[in-house]
Amino acid sequence: MNLKCAAVLICLLIFATSACNDDDTAQPNTSTLQPVGASSHDFLSDENYESLNIEIQYMTGYEPSSAVLNSLESFLSTILNKPAGIVFIKNEIVAEGKTTYSAADIRALEQIKRTQYTSNKNIAAYFIFLDGGYSEDSSSSKVLGIAYQNSSMAIFQKTIESLSGGIGQPSTNLLSSTVTQHEFGHILGLVNNGTDMVAQHQDVPHGKHCDDADCLMYWTVENSNNLADLLGMSSPPSLDTNCLADLKANGGK
Ligand SMILES: [Zn+2]
Ligand SMILES: [Zn+2]
Repeated sequence: MNLKCAAVLICLLIFATSACNDDDTAQPNTSTLQPVGASSHDFLSDENYESLNIEIQYMTGYEPSSAVLNSLESFLSTILNKPAGIVFIKNEIVAEGKTTYSAADIRALEQIKRTQYTSNKNIAAYFIFLDGGYSEDSSSSKVLGIAYQNSSMAIFQKTIESLSGGIGQPSTNLLSSTVTQHEFGHILGLVNNGTDMVAQHQDVPHGKHCDDADCLMYWTVENSNNLADLLGMSSPPSLDTNCLADLKANGGK
């Protein structure tokens, strides 16, 4: 198998060791150190939390545009039961100047920098936009974003900018929007990763992804073919009916 073609990974889902617990949906849990998908029900439903704060921390020079945040907000507002609303808290942090960041580096930065946490009726999510790439990047394979804990995502904005905005490339806003929404899909438990499937649609050979080629959660969102696919599009791919049904069954709209 030739893996040398320019495969560009859009996301990498980090699996923490997880003790499966099917019995905790009624208990609010404010820990930010749980596996991806562990808080999917709390993000989707209004049972425990009626509003959502999304903290966006960006390293100097790598601020996401308002178009990216507006697109994320409209994506989430059609899915999440958060009657008291979604609020963005955006702040700049010092650029570390590293070429790449490991998952451990990113977790350590979050520990120091993050300011928004779940409390009372408000649940919090966290994005960090980085001035470098991922430590697992290779010359033929770049990671654009990761979901690494139950409320935590990292976006490799420098890598995104290097692969967008030029001739024959998707716009930077479109690629950033696609990656942020795909990663949030993993936080919401897709696919079969904290949110149970209503009907089987997991593309098992490709991990926690959907088997619908047109879906936001399809695995080829993780390779360079997707970059070409985005060229004809004005907005990120949507979730297909199977993914939407799963989210609805787990408390979403
Ligand atoms: Zn993914
Ligand atoms: Zn899907």
